[in-house]
Amino acid sequence: MRHRIAVVGGGPAGLTFARVLRRHDCPVTVFERDPAPDARPPGGTLDLQERLGQLALEKAGLLAEFEALSRPEGQAMRILDADGTVLRDWLPRPDERANPEIDRGRLRDLLLGTLDVRWGRAVTRVVPGTDEGAVVHFADGRQEAFDLVVGADGAWSRVRPAVSPVTPHYTGVTSVETALDDVDTRHPDLARLIGDGSMAVYGANRALVAQRNSGGHVKVYAQFRAPLDWHTHLDRADAEAVRSALLALFDGWAAPVRELLRRGGTFVHRPLHVLPVSHTWPHVSGVTLLGDAAHLMPPLGAGANLAMLEGAELAESIAAGPDDLDEAVRAFEERMWERAGRWARITTAGLERLVSPDPAAALALFDEVQPS
Ligand SMILES: Cc1cc2nc3c(=O)[nH]c(=O)nc-3n(C[C@H](O)[C@H](O)[C@H](O)COP(=O)(O)OP(=O)(O)OC[C@H]3O[C@@H](n4cnc5c(N)ncnc54)[C@H](O)[C@@H]3O)c2cc1C
Repeated sequence: MRHRIAVVGGGPAGLTFARVLRRHDCPVTVFERDPAPDARPPGGTLDLQERLGQLALEKAGLLAEFEALSRPEGQAMRILDADGTVLRDWLPRPDERANPEIDRGRLRDLLLGTLDVRWGRAVTRVVPGTDEGAVVHFADGRQEAFDLVVGADGAWSRVRPAVSPVTPHYTGVTSVETALDDVDTRHPDLARLIGDGSMAVYGANRALVAQRNSGGHVKVYAQFRAPLDWHTHLDRADAEAVRSALLALFDGWAAPVRELLRRGGTFVHRPLHVLPVSHTWPHVSGVTLLGDAAHLMPPLGAGANLAMLEGAELAESIAAGPDDLDEAVRAFEERMWERAGRWARITTAGLERLVSPDPAAALALFDEVQPS
């Protein structure tokens, strides 16, 4: 039996789901709000773990291509204190493949391949349980019915209200992102400071993280505890005003570290929101969620990994038990909730320690998780 299956969202969750379904010869329709794959900057770098994101790529038949595109050297991690003293300088072994980095844009292109995505199709809501099935409503006024609608539409999911009334809440930590280009030629001093992978500087209730992407591009994240409205006196479109505000927040930090903020281009404001740890819902026939739509958590290296593995596992569950779609989804949801709940607890505790009144807490966390 051929089911009518739709996935809303062409991020890591939705694309992996579609790729694995297609590998099992199951048709699926992907709806994405962006008008085109390159409609907005793809974002920074992602580390994909062996037993999560890489396993998902294996299920999609894309692991060898990932290995060719990823950057194992990007696993390097350097930790400094606010005075600029290097506290840890971890380099991966040449054969280390536990968490190689990949640019988000490269991962998206790898997952897209020849998938047929319906671009520019923003979903406004999904109504389950009608005579036609679950009905998807679009911003342009159109509607389409499916046997299963999978919400993989991220933090502010429009599918989620069909299964759960819960919405994300603010963690108390804000991240402001900036970037440097051609760092090796234009900013060789900062290239040396950062190293081959990531560099993190921890102070009281503040952190500054710089991550290499390919092609000499570096993303810098200033993270700090602040009320959600900390910026109300600022014009966030005025890069110089934001830069001054950030330099004031990181006042007293070592000059080379502050240079990351001085030389960054534009600034993007990202207050960190999360869903409650262990977010679940009573099963709703015809609709489910994947990835951030189901379990938005602090960005500590798990979200995309979980999103991709869930996409792959839901697809496999559907392909393995095609007669009872509902049962396949139900079995998948139990598995997703258990694993996502575990990671939500880990990342929530992690954020508390990384942006903490005591910078030693961040260093201790690094020592616990980093292979020596
Ligand atoms: C700074 C930062 C660094 C991170 N680093 C890592 C990392 O190293 N490793 C890791 O595992 N995770 C990381 N994460 C988390 C990771 O980015 C997310 O968990 C992951 O992108 C979730 O994937 P997703 O497919 O569920 O959602 P998303 O990536 O948010 O994709 C959702 C898609 O749905 C589309 N969409 C949204 N609304 C609609 C709509 N109404 N109709 C149609 N389409 C819609 C969006 O345009 C988007 O394409 C990081 C996050 C941040 C912010």
